[in-house]
Amino acid sequence: AEEGRSPHVVLFPFLAHGHIPAFLRLAGHLQALRPGLAVTLVSTQRILGSLSLPATSPPIQLHALPFAPADHGLPDGAHSLADLHVHQFITFFQASESLRPAFDGFVAGIRSPVCIIADAFFAWTADVARARGASHAVFLPGGAFGNAVFFSVWEHLPHTLTAGDEFPLLPDFPDVVLHRTQIPPYMLAATGADPWTAFFRRVIPSCRKTDAVLVNTVQQLEPSGLDMLRASFGVQTWPIGPILAAPAPSKSRDDDDITIIQWLDAHPRRSVLYISFGSQNSISIRQMTELALGLEASGWPFIWAVRPPLGFDPKDGFDPEWLPAGFEDRMAARASGRGLVVRGWAPQARILAHPSTGAFLTHCGWNSILESLRHGVPLLGWPVGAEQFFNAMVVVEWGVCVEVARGNLESSAVESAEVAEAVGTVMGETEKGEAMRRKAGAIAHAMAAASEGPGGSSSASLERFLRCVEASALRDSCL
Ligand code: UDP
Repeated sequence: AEEGRSPHVVLFPFLAHGHIPAFLRLAGHLQALRPGLAVTLVSTQRILGSLSLPATSPPIQLHALPFAPADHGLPDGAHSLADLHVHQFITFFQASESLRPAFDGFVAGIRSPVCIIADAFFAWTADVARARGASHAVFLPGGAFGNAVFFSVWEHLPHTLTAGDEFPLLPDFPDVVLHRTQIPPYMLAATGADPWTAFFRRVIPSCRKTDAVLVNTVQQLEPSGLDMLRASFGVQTWPIGPILAAPAPSKSRDDDDITIIQWLDAHPRRSVLYISFGSQNSISIRQMTELALGLEASGWPFIWAVRPPLGFDPKDGFDPEWLPAGFEDRMAARASGRGLVVRGWAPQARILAHPSTGAFLTHCGWNSILESLRHGVPLLGWPVGAEQFFNAMVVVEWGVCVEVARGNLESSAVESAEVAEAVGTVMGETEKGEAMRRKAGAIAHAMAAASEGPGGSSSASLERFLRCVEASALRDSCL
């Protein structure tokens, strides 16, 4: 009955830093294709209040859902994964499901045809959509292969019983061979009776109720990963990436950012290594020591955005004790100002865009990977959790990443000498380093081409998606 009226897009990202900017950017892409499109971003008051929104026309509307972390035994101020210890993550994921009645009430009150675009972790919104006559898409801010394998590993638990080290482990994807160490330990250890498994056993079937999947990747870069997702979800799956967060706004003080950029300005082209484990992950204090000593031994200048190590409260301020004695002073005192420790949030997008940045040691969060490769900056991989292990496989296969370590548990030993050697290989004038830079440059090119103009593969996918929404035919193979 409502056909022909312009849809109202409702975006519902998960409450995590890596996810919200990608949804905001998606809103910008949608409004670029449909000027005047109504878009509402739904989240908690605490998160909405902390956002600096891009200037769009009409402005992105905000809708706050009531959320009381304390009701779920979480610290009162905890409104994002970044505020929590890793062992509290599962409680936070479970607690997020309590947003359902309020979300349902909000959707029920919208008069135009609604298209919900939700995070996979909020896939229960597909039931809301069905009940309210709305169309529904899951937007994956991550990559295709990483997500497909991540879901599949959860679906085929337990892996503890599987013998051998290297095996085609996933019945749905027999071509994917995972080594035991390529599965995050908490997934490998999951028996099926643990809270993570229970959570994903709700999430994954809900995802299959969606009408379509949008993925932050490029067809040309991940053809087989996309086929895996299509096979897994059984609905239209559109690669619409790269969806890159805007470089601004920064969370740190502008003065700090200016100091960092000036520091980069003073260094030669491609001479600086940037290190970050993303917005919510940490490594152990012992690993931090080895990393620090490895960086020192490598001789290359670096910028390291230091988050508290495992076991420390993410809200606590920086403590020099996390690093080897005298490390910061030694690094700062070097003639060339060899190492800059950023105490907290770094202006990552600006650092990666800077010509002095030569490589990125990353936890392989998908945003970080895309932000680096769009500038042709090759990677050193140190996946820590979630689907990062599988993302690392993708970038290693692309020839743009050397893995230095995996995981953050005691079992994941890393030696400073290995770090130093890997840094030298990627930063230096080595054959491998040259090849990685060349390939990273080619990927930057493919990423730009995909989202350039209406002819780009990702722009065309998003346009087709919108047409299906407008025809109220998202679920059907409408085009
Ligand atoms: N980020 C940043 N400064 C930091 C740490 C992270 O700007 O000090 C940004 C980074 O640019 C990226 C996002 O936070 O856009 C992290 O997303 P990613 O998917 O890489 O990892 P996650 O944090 O979700 O694990």
